[in-house]
Amino acid sequence: MTALTNLLDLDPAQLVAYCAELGEKPFRAKQLQRWIHQFGASDFDAMTDLAKSLRDKLKSRATIAAPSVITDHTSADGTRKWLLDVGQGNAVETVFIPEENRGTLCISTQAGCAVNCRFCSTGKQGFSRNLTVGEIIGQLWMAEFELRKTKGIEPGPKGERQITNVVMMGMGEPLLNFEPTVTALKLMLDDNAYGLSRRRVTVSTSGVVPMIDKLSQECPVALAVSLHASNDALRDGLVPLNRKYPLAELMAACRRYLAFAPRDFITFEYCMLDGVNDSDAHARELVALVQNGEDSVPCKFNLIPFNPFPESGLKRSNNARIKAFAQILMDAGIVTTIRKTRGDDIDAACGQLAGEIQDRTKVQERMQKMAEYQKKFGKNFGRIVEVPR
Ligand code: SF4
Repeated sequence: MTALTNLLDLDPAQLVAYCAELGEKPFRAKQLQRWIHQFGASDFDAMTDLAKSLRDKLKSRATIAAPSVITDHTSADGTRKWLLDVGQGNAVETVFIPEENRGTLCISTQAGCAVNCRFCSTGKQGFSRNLTVGEIIGQLWMAEFELRKTKGIEPGPKGERQITNVVMMGMGEPLLNFEPTVTALKLMLDDNAYGLSRRRVTVSTSGVVPMIDKLSQECPVALAVSLHASNDALRDGLVPLNRKYPLAELMAACRRYLAFAPRDFITFEYCMLDGVNDSDAHARELVALVQNGEDSVPCKFNLIPFNPFPESGLKRSNNARIKAFAQILMDAGIVTTIRKTRGDDIDAACGQLAGEIQDRTKVQERMQKMAEYQKKFGKNFGRIVEVPR
């Protein structure tokens, strides 16, 4: 028996090609895509405007399957977190953050992460594998229609959309799983699927410079960069990828990206670590980094209070320090926000994703993948480097 094709893996063009293989016209692909991504249908019999012969063909050859839900928790503040099974003992997390005028879904792109940022609990569990397109878009598909079901909102374009913004900021480095990430992005933007505007979809990267350029050409959406440090020595210790792509290269890539981006600024994420990167001098150094004459980078800063986890050996900066740091950036004319910590009671805050699934990761596979990445990006890739204090 041949394996069923998971239609969640196919982008609009691939779905047209798939329908052609079944002897169907391109408009059938559009109908099918709407059933899947706008109505959340997974049962071909429910697709009533498709001919019965096509439904029968699909039933024997295709499936619509998102990763299955292992746990589903809702925090007191409304944040909802799903732990999803992606097979072979791996699981990823998807987090929905409701706000007054929008609903943001934080999506994972890899099981684990090889970048190994010092302050990130996902990084500490190592890298397991890249997610497929179906596993990435399947998070949005599952979440949108689960949220509607919970609220009694009908599926389809007439029902009130629950997810208005997507951030690829969950487990993994999206730009190290480039093709599936971009295919999933294209589905998010497609009018016959989710129809999200490019401005409302954000890819967050730790700074994979060549892939930032590639993204600008293939699917420019809003860009967030995990900066976390104001100079190379400090960033080498916090984000090991910096040794491969130091700050000058990263800033230049950000400037190039802005020529194609749907927004006229880059968002810099900055995790506030007590006594490590949170002094006034660091703030001033950051201002100099991004306001550097012709080499300036139009940007916003998002300061993230660190969520401590036991192995990190790091502490959260206190609120007064975070405010003083933000003030220096704001006095320099930089829009600066301090991220509200959400979902603390369900471990859904940034850097806590996957904290509860560490034992599921396959050590053997992780080591192999790490060796591959080190070959590709240099021997320091993924190493824990002591942070100068
Ligand atoms: S912060 Fe992002 S890039 Fe760094 S280890 Fe965590 S998931 Fe990976």
